[in-house]
Amino acid sequence: MLVNYLCRVAYLTITMIRECPEHGPFRGERCLCGATGRLVLDDARTERLGRFISGALRHFPDDLGLAISSKGWVDLNLLSEVMHERYRWATKKRLIAMIESDEKGRYELQGGRIRARYGHSINVDLDFEENTNSKLYYGTSQEEADIILENGIKPVRQRYVHLSTSIEKASEVASVHTENPIIIEVDAMRAQKDGILMMQATDEIVLTDEVPPEYLSQLK
Ligand SMILES: [Zn+2]
Repeated sequence: MLVNYLCRVAYLTITMIRECPEHGPFRGERCLCGATGRLVLDDARTERLGRFISGALRHFPDDLGLAISSKGWVDLNLLSEVMHERYRWATKKRLIAMIESDEKGRYELQGGRIRARYGHSINVDLDFEENTNSKLYYGTSQEEADIILENGIKPVRQRYVHLSTSIEKASEVASVHTENPIIIEVDAMRAQKDGILMMQATDEIVLTDEVPPEYLSQLK
């Protein structure tokens, strides 16, 4: 269910990719400098490629014959080949443009390899820097909030629990599947002092195995 709603969030933010001769790939009609540039991928192809890469790096690398390391890395050339076999229009250059223009920073490129920063359903052991935010947030429905406050936050069909660095972001994520999100505040500083590992996957997302109830409180 969580995977589904994350995919829906992704879908809502998908837009075509264009390339500015001066500033490189960007999303939408115009680069920040005002140039329209040239088309790299239209909306439909951006969406299709996004779904494919998400599946390959987060959910079913084995089905595609892709070796994935315990830290989530896949060889970029290999991934490009598998992708290109399926979609002839999907070149490595276009893939890189998609990654580099992704405002959410979903993927990480490093030395000829690529990984998803978050959203895994497969078993990985990611190794990002430790979170430095003293408070983190998790948005949910009222019914779920009662269960969470009693039992803690546990991953649902995902490898990690995904926490937000701001109330706004937590609310935005939760509002995809509930109308009036309840925001749970996580005392991250205390949890980390007590030995719970929390990793900064992106500016907005922190990953952890689970959060026991003693670190949680509902924001009024
Ligand atoms: Zn530009």
